[in-house]
Amino acid sequence: MEKANTKNDKDNMNEKDTAPAAGPPHFIRNIIREDLKTNKYGGRVHTRFPPEPNGYLHIGHAKSICLNFGLAEEFGGLCNLRYDDTNPTKEEVEYVDAIEADVRWLGFDWDDRKFYASDYFDQLYQFAVQLIKKGKAYVCDLSPDDIREYRGTLTQPGKNSPYRDRSVEENLDLFERMRAGKFAEGSRVLRAKIDMAAPNLNMRDPAIYRVKKVHHHRTGDKWCIYPMYDFAHGISDSIEGITHSICTLEFEDHRPLYDWFLDQLEIYHPQQIEFARLNLSYTVLSKRKLLQLVREGRVSGWDDPRMPTLAGFRRRGYTPEAIRTFAEIIGVAKRDSVVDIALLEHCLREDLNKRANRVMAVLRPLKVVIENYPDDLVEEMDAINNPEDPAQGKRKVPFSKTIYIEKDDFREMPPRHYHRLAPGQEVRLRYAYFITCTDVIKDKNSGEVVELRCTYDPASRGGWAPDGRKVKGTIHWVSVKHAVPATVRLYDQLFSKDDPNDEEEGKTFLDYLNPNSLQELKNCQLEASLSKAKVGVPYQFERLGYFCVDSIDSKPSDFIFNRTVALRDTWAKIEKKTQD
Ligand code: ATP
Ligand code: MG
Repeated sequence: MEKANTKNDKDNMNEKDTAPAAGPPHFIRNIIREDLKTNKYGGRVHTRFPPEPNGYLHIGHAKSICLNFGLAEEFGGLCNLRYDDTNPTKEEVEYVDAIEADVRWLGFDWDDRKFYASDYFDQLYQFAVQLIKKGKAYVCDLSPDDIREYRGTLTQPGKNSPYRDRSVEENLDLFERMRAGKFAEGSRVLRAKIDMAAPNLNMRDPAIYRVKKVHHHRTGDKWCIYPMYDFAHGISDSIEGITHSICTLEFEDHRPLYDWFLDQLEIYHPQQIEFARLNLSYTVLSKRKLLQLVREGRVSGWDDPRMPTLAGFRRRGYTPEAIRTFAEIIGVAKRDSVVDIALLEHCLREDLNKRANRVMAVLRPLKVVIENYPDDLVEEMDAINNPEDPAQGKRKVPFSKTIYIEKDDFREMPPRHYHRLAPGQEVRLRYAYFITCTDVIKDKNSGEVVELRCTYDPASRGGWAPDGRKVKGTIHWVSVKHAVPATVRLYDQLFSKDDPNDEEEGKTFLDYLNPNSLQELKNCQLEASLSKAKVGVPYQFERLGYFCVDSIDSKPSDFIFNRTVALRDTWAKIEKKTQD
């Protein structure tokens, strides 16, 4: 797990006086504080979040969003939303809409500062012309293969293109004709004229513009040449007055190029700062791979609750607060690492524990008839909604002669330390009575237990016996007469390998898909109050985990709940004990 940089703790403690809303120290915060101190950007902090609209946002993007919007918020600055839409073949309006919904859901707002790199296509073209005029860019006729060949390798310098010394006039004319659509794709590119022997391959006359005769979702057919990311990004940052252009580590080697363009053009110069991207165990975060899962129907869509997308997490029942806390805890570092998904689940449980009301639900029902309970009596039992939040008060849960309990809460042959229901054994029904199992009814053919007969102690109402008698087990239940039927979906990790990106020979990440990542339980029985359950409200089903109504598939006639996350492994511990 990444740890926040604590080396500069002392400095930061001193600086706390001047930076009121400071979070824990990390190197980007430190840079910003230092820049504010030296008045580097006139006291401004202006960041941007620059997604490429070619997929849905995932938890890795959330780290970047929290960092960019979060730092702006913290230092009284601004953060822009900017679509990097320089690659027109892949963009889709669906993605743009999804990205906005996700950033808002996380709790951030770009106000009126939504931009597109394509907003700057005219300016970018003019900047390219300026570079040509300065003798810093040229049109190259080498084929893509030749360009690669001429580039050289890490150990060998490249070779100059034979077109490198074209005159400014010729370059201006050719570039103009590139723009006018006179040349086929791949036949010519505009390249920066830097240094074919530079140790950094990115500096070996990189392409600035290429011909692409494709429709763009915003500029239509106006352009048939499109700027390369490295050229467009720094200039877009400059145009928007960005101060700190925060990106992931793979751009570290591109920073000299970022700086070169801005220096050559002599325009306002933001600083690029790189940090390590988030990697999460049991998860893939490459958009290419996520797209493949969607396209091949391995999941139900970008918002499948098993997907690491924000849309998937939202549908699964994650809260934005949990994700923001997670982003804060993992910190920001300069070295790549893999974060344990258990940490994300921990943040989620901590948050849901505070906000989810407790209810009772039986996922695998077993019918219990309480033989000495009056046939038609219904009692309203008092139940606490949330012990973590007294303001949530109490509710009434109906109790009657026939109830469901969890199949797993009964054992005909109880192992040692099994404190739940067994023949002759007494347990507490949560908020109700003590019951003792007197009889077991089985299916004649299969031998499966299909019903239990019990007696109850009327003196134990509320779950306490006046004689001080103790029972060791407490189980949950639902009155059959009042039960709300539902389908419940239980999820496990989508991949069964801790690093599905580590593809062994002859395999792909798809070979590591977990065949048991989704389990659908059809005949679940919920307590009556859940008939009014709403999308977007978390519930804790006592002893089973946190659940929510599925926002897409649930209907009044077919109530569907997702398990957001199991409770901290108390269940597993009980199971283990009973096996000893
Ligand atoms: P992919 O490599 O999967 O295609 P990307 O980095 O190209 O993802 P973008 O849409 O370009 O995706 O990303 C937008 C912003 O989010 C960028 O600033 C990028 O650095 C950041 N980002 C993307 N993935 C991660 C991650 N795993 N951790 C942190 N930041 C990320
Ligand atoms: Mg990118």
